[in-house]
Amino acid sequence: MKKSVFDIIIVGGGPAGMFAALGADHATKIVPNSRKLKVKLLEQNARFGKKILISGGGKCNITHRGEVQDLLTKGFLNQSHARFLRPAFYEFTNQDVLSLLNKFGVSTYHRTDGCVFPTSNRSNDVLQAFEQALQETQCSLEFSQKITGVKHYEGLFTLQTQTDQFISRTLILSTGGISYPQTGSTGDGLKFAKHLGHNIQTPTAALSSIFLSPVPKQAQVGLSCRYVSLLAQQGEKTVSRTGDLLFSHKGVTGPAALSLSTDIGLLDPYASVIELYVDFFPAIHREALDAEICHQALKSPHLQIKSLLKTFSYIYAQGQTREPVYPQRLVDHILKQSKIEPKKPLNQLTKSDRHQLINALKLFRLGKVKSLPLEQGEISAGGVRLNEVNPKTMASRILNGLYLCGELLDYAGEIGGYNLQAAYSTGWLAGKSAVKFLSEK
Ligand SMILES: Cc1cc2nc3c(=O)[nH]c(=O)nc-3n(C[C@H](O)[C@H](O)[C@H](O)COP(=O)(O)OP(=O)(O)OC[C@H]3O[C@@H](n4cnc5c(N)ncnc54)[C@H](O)[C@@H]3O)c2cc1C
Repeated sequence: MKKSVFDIIIVGGGPAGMFAALGADHATKIVPNSRKLKVKLLEQNARFGKKILISGGGKCNITHRGEVQDLLTKGFLNQSHARFLRPAFYEFTNQDVLSLLNKFGVSTYHRTDGCVFPTSNRSNDVLQAFEQALQETQCSLEFSQKITGVKHYEGLFTLQTQTDQFISRTLILSTGGISYPQTGSTGDGLKFAKHLGHNIQTPTAALSSIFLSPVPKQAQVGLSCRYVSLLAQQGEKTVSRTGDLLFSHKGVTGPAALSLSTDIGLLDPYASVIELYVDFFPAIHREALDAEICHQALKSPHLQIKSLLKTFSYIYAQGQTREPVYPQRLVDHILKQSKIEPKKPLNQLTKSDRHQLINALKLFRLGKVKSLPLEQGEISAGGVRLNEVNPKTMASRILNGLYLCGELLDYAGEIGGYNLQAAYSTGWLAGKSAVKFLSEK
């Protein structure tokens, strides 16, 4: 069995691991007595960053535009996550990653919502730039090396693969979460961290589609809604998120569903059923909607209710493009829930009809939440408990010389480039801190 010895070993070459290597390399150039440190990055796949390739639907939403504090506030609604990530986000900012990409020829643009993408809209360009940056470091890069076990004995870490053994003075774990396991994020690092003494918050689905029972009707599959509010109710508890929504074969997806899945993941699935509803007009109060129906009935008494609902979809359209809230094909389904005959003229609507109609528009029942496919989430929530990691260094508070970064940690960001930024920032800080730790020994 081949044995080799290093000062820093990074396990997992996703964005967190790649930036841990870049952060360490940067630190060796500025921290006294660290120039000769031997750093190794080990990845089980044949290439780094498989998740970057599939990110943002193949376009890669690299990061989010704006001040660091805004990124933390908008990207991490759980304040303890935002607080934990704060030092890392200031240490390596969204501007820093864009400057790095720019240095390697990747220009970027941002959408009106602040999401930043490569101008080419190709995630491969982003990954290639990161790979080029890594090639310029002193770090030794090794692929197709799956770490199968980690031990700590007398101040040294021993890492085992099928064929080799690696020994290191410090260890950075950056093995990711457990969603999309086919990309390599299979949760190995969680087992290693546990073995080394850490407590793990059980992973739950986040930013995933929501599977429903019953599944959407065939005629609804593929329909999308704009700026609606999706609401989950379990007994007294309700959680809701606003955004676009898409009906799929098994349930719902799109930004509103993905964001809400993180909140649903925190509910107790065994407590009682979780019902899912849509509010098509979250910005309009029931009274205002009722007044508008009455107003339209005075203006066009013979207009059929079906036509009014088509008009409503445009009247209440939000956003710059003002696309209709729901497609026309959904009108029949809304009317079916309201139990109103589609051809009924407005002047024949009773108070009770209006009440039922408003219910169908503001509390359109989708069905029961059947499951959240954890493995299909953009991220997984849960991971190494944040109170066991020093946010200023990413060092373990349990074991000296151990560092943890990226999605392996128990934080979960929103959609919008925040999760990749968290991986770069925590990775960079972990790499830099490991170098400082060794230089001070
Ligand atoms: C479909 C999809 C789309 C997404 N789109 C976006 C987006 O546009 N913007 C955004 O901000 N976020 C996006 N995300 C989330 C983002 O990709 C992740 O949060 C991020 O990749 C996490 O980085 P990481 O380095 O911590 O972990 P990962 O990217 O999961 O990397 C972990 C690495 O560790 C390696 N590894 C694991 N175990 C071992 C082992 N035993 N030995 C050796 N190597 C090992 C894995 O092979 C993998 O390469 C998306 C995620 C998915 C699934």
